[in-house]
Amino acid sequence: MTSLDSLDALLDHIETRDPHQPEFRQAVEEVMGPVFPYLDEHPELIGDGLLARLIEPDRVVQFRVPWIDDKGQVHVERGYRVQFNAALGPYKGGLRFHPSVNLSILKFLAFEQIFKNALTGLPMGGGKGGATFNPRGRSDHEIMRFCQSFMTELFRHLGPTTDVPAGDIGVGGREIGYLFGQYKRLANAFDGTLTGKAVGWGGSELRTEATGYGLIYLAQHALEHRGEALEGKRVAISGSGNVALYAAELAIECGARVLTLSDSDGFVHDPEGLDTEKLDWIKALKQERRGRIHDYAQAFSGVRFHEGQAPWGVEVDLALPCATQNELDDEAARALTHNGCAAVLEGANMPCTAGAVRVLRGASALFVPGKAANAGGVATSGLEMSQNAAHRAWSRDRVERRLREIMAAIHEQCIAYGEGDDGVDYVRGANRAGFVRVARAMQAHGVV
Ligand code: NDP
Repeated sequence: MTSLDSLDALLDHIETRDPHQPEFRQAVEEVMGPVFPYLDEHPELIGDGLLARLIEPDRVVQFRVPWIDDKGQVHVERGYRVQFNAALGPYKGGLRFHPSVNLSILKFLAFEQIFKNALTGLPMGGGKGGATFNPRGRSDHEIMRFCQSFMTELFRHLGPTTDVPAGDIGVGGREIGYLFGQYKRLANAFDGTLTGKAVGWGGSELRTEATGYGLIYLAQHALEHRGEALEGKRVAISGSGNVALYAAELAIECGARVLTLSDSDGFVHDPEGLDTEKLDWIKALKQERRGRIHDYAQAFSGVRFHEGQAPWGVEVDLALPCATQNELDDEAARALTHNGCAAVLEGANMPCTAGAVRVLRGASALFVPGKAANAGGVATSGLEMSQNAAHRAWSRDRVERRLREIMAAIHEQCIAYGEGDDGVDYVRGANRAGFVRVARAMQAHGVV
């Protein structure tokens, strides 16, 4: 086998083996690019073919998911679970229901997840899964039938000490409920195999808010480290799903001015900024009525809807991309920095393209990658696993305290591994800190 002792060799190896997986290649480049220079001083971390083992998932499950719509028509979707790495604990990572789901995207997400989970300090490996199913416009019963069919195959690969999925795009509280119901029925077990459950039946307090809140805690630490504060900052947020809405909620509470939200139809710009009342209206629109973000522009005066566009042309101090991967490219990054935006934190997974990250760094903007910035969600899932294993439910205060501690510790690790003469490089810090923890565990386990 060729030696994989340089980034180019590693990427060539991936391209030869999996030429149709550009997102996975992008994720490996993103993680390993900043790690390689560190390995020059720590070659012991990659003995015994560690890198070749690291980029190969432990297991990939792909399966057929047939389901019947309300008109009696049969549909067949493709389901997946990528169990990438269990060096630190059971596979842990969300399920995504979206027509764009494919193996490349899930391998990218699962690979990133390994190091994100490592950063939390909790005992969790990395995985990700999902299906090509598009929940948009489907009735509750259609969603339920799909979830049941999906779980009918997946359940045999899961378990509280084996693999513990959660939600992601298209999989929220309702879907977790249906998935758990079917898992419980097939496994004949009420256990902590899924996280993101409702608080009344095994879920953790604050899990719903955790990714968005964690993002804001991290933003506060990163800004404070630069001698700045979140209060008074103008913020552009993309998306209007789980991450975006709770990031907006806490940002508003902290005195920031949230000017935008979006969905896949376009973005809304509210020059006055959102307040709690407006946000509650949007939550009801998205979570109860399952409406579109342009309805907000119709319901409130002074708000404009920009069809088919992302919010990165708006003049802001801070940008929080919270929708999907590759939604902020180099051109968007140039528009942001041109308008004076000095900080971008990734609420979504890999929303910034490599070109965008280069532009932001070139402009000396603060940039925090998703694996540090959005780790609050999986961290709270880890806390949900602990509560389930102990048959206990912690108070909201206790979960919030732990989440704050975890985000503070993630920020500390970014500084420990990423601080240099020109400030903190969060990409370097997060990737190196995560990698070191995983590599040490893999070395301890031998060649497996
Ligand atoms: P949701 O499904 O709740 O919301 C996703 C939002 O992004 C929706 O507003 C959706 O609009 C929009 N969106 C999706 N695809 C596109 C697209 N191609 N172009 C423009 N807008 C789009 O997902 P989450 O909020 O849970 O997740 C958002 C991101 O955060 C994902 O990258 C996810 O992996 C990541 N993440 C989520 C965590 C969590 O705890 N939920 C944890 C860590 C990361 P529409 O309704 O029109 O599709």
